[in-house]
Amino acid sequence: MAEKSRIGVTGLAVMGANLARNMARRGFPVAVHNRTTSKTQEFMKDFGDEGPFTGSESLQEFVDALETPRTIVVMVKAGPPVDAVIDELAPLLDKGDIIIDAGNSHFPDTDRRAAYCQERGLRFMGVGVSGGEEGALLGPSIMPGGDPEAYAEVEEILTAIAAVVDDTPCCTHVGPGGAGHYVKMVHNGIEYADIQLIAEAYDLLTHVAGLSAPEIGKIFEQWNTGDLESFLIEITGKVLAKTDEKTGAPLVDVIVDQAEQKGTGRWTAIDALDLGVPLTGITEAVFARTLSSLRDERRAASTTLAGPTPGSGSNRDDLVEDIRQALYASKVVAYAQGFAQMRAASQQNDWNLDLGAMATIWRGGCIIRAQFLNRIRDAYAEHPDLDNLLMVPYFTQAVADAQDAWRRVVATATAQGVAIPAFSSSLSYYDGYRRERGPANLIQGLRDFFGAHTYRRTDSDGTFHTRWAQDG
Ligand code: NAP
Repeated sequence: MAEKSRIGVTGLAVMGANLARNMARRGFPVAVHNRTTSKTQEFMKDFGDEGPFTGSESLQEFVDALETPRTIVVMVKAGPPVDAVIDELAPLLDKGDIIIDAGNSHFPDTDRRAAYCQERGLRFMGVGVSGGEEGALLGPSIMPGGDPEAYAEVEEILTAIAAVVDDTPCCTHVGPGGAGHYVKMVHNGIEYADIQLIAEAYDLLTHVAGLSAPEIGKIFEQWNTGDLESFLIEITGKVLAKTDEKTGAPLVDVIVDQAEQKGTGRWTAIDALDLGVPLTGITEAVFARTLSSLRDERRAASTTLAGPTPGSGSNRDDLVEDIRQALYASKVVAYAQGFAQMRAASQQNDWNLDLGAMATIWRGGCIIRAQFLNRIRDAYAEHPDLDNLLMVPYFTQAVADAQDAWRRVVATATAQGVAIPAFSSSLSYYDGYRRERGPANLIQGLRDFFGAHTYRRTDSDGTFHTRWAQDG
């Protein structure tokens, strides 16, 4: 009888296939399966001799190929397909077997599936995997959530296939239930904000500084050697440098300006609203993508709605440096907000998230990997109960140093009619957060006027209601 496999992967599209190859390259025998059998056959033909694989043409064959207790990674399209696979697998499995959903599932679905599996004596883990196709093959950042005992059984495999930074694998048990998928969701939300900030910087460099895509690419290349050093800044340089083979123009100039999205940014924003956490950067990034999708409306509005025509108004080198600083300060705010959201979710769900560990496992393998995350890890090492990253001396100083440039960029963009929702909302958040007394006293007064919602006073305890119209 053939040797049993240590782990199984069902779902052999790009992510599942590459994760399976990554495991096999590390020496773990892997059983592979895909709903459409021809994909399994193709996988075995293309990669079968790369490592100890067993190709299975049916789920029963797949389950039979695994050591017990079984560990099965489900890497199928997020949403109903995950439920369909669990439904099909559950009757074929034995008590104690582990199902790992490694796709981008929404965390409430993960909680529901964990309960469903528990009722059937199965163990379930929701595991966030970041890094795209290449990360899955060469080493992703892995955010495992769910049963800690199940994690202990799969830790060896997950840490072996994860990216490694400073001898530390980018994988750690995040927390119970849907915590892993939650953290992956916020990771993706932060990715939305990072990308939006980069796009706004590109827009300003194009329309205010008057630079071409390859010129801007060189600027990003240079930025990648400083505080902004990160995967996204690096690939922005490469994308902007690429020439279109068909036209000879920069490729980015012939790409339609409509951004698509799969939903994780939207989930992050919705959850922030539910938790009552101010998450302006990520939310504006989601709105910017939805505005971009209104292409026909924008085309009509571009000839109807008035506005200034952007053009250089200041020294180009100064402007470029100001934009770099504004990008850095806005990025600090986006991360501060994302981490504050994870802290609030952790408190609400009793997840006990170690936020420093989240920064640590995002340093490699994932899309938002950046030097900057070392600073965040250090901040939480020193202040584990930190309310807001902006209050740590390093970040307080970084934003203080950048704020003049940041304000100039927001003012210039506004005067010249360039939309910068993430830059400007991050600055407004910063200015709102650092105010001891804001204008919400008036909001409370208005609410009490029209709805008798009451207000609290600065000089005495209790709640008060005023008959505003009569009391003059
Ligand atoms: P995908 O395009 O999201 O999904 C395709 C896979 O799902 C195929 O194997 C397909 O099988 C299977 N599938 C769909 N419906 C099914 C059903 N009802 N029953 C069984 N199998 C079904 O694949 P992907 O891009 O590799 O992504 C997989 C997961 O990883 C997703 O959750 C995705 O969001 C997440 N993820 C993707 C990336 C990325 O860069 N692509 C990065 C991180 C995370 P058939 O071949 O039979 O159709």
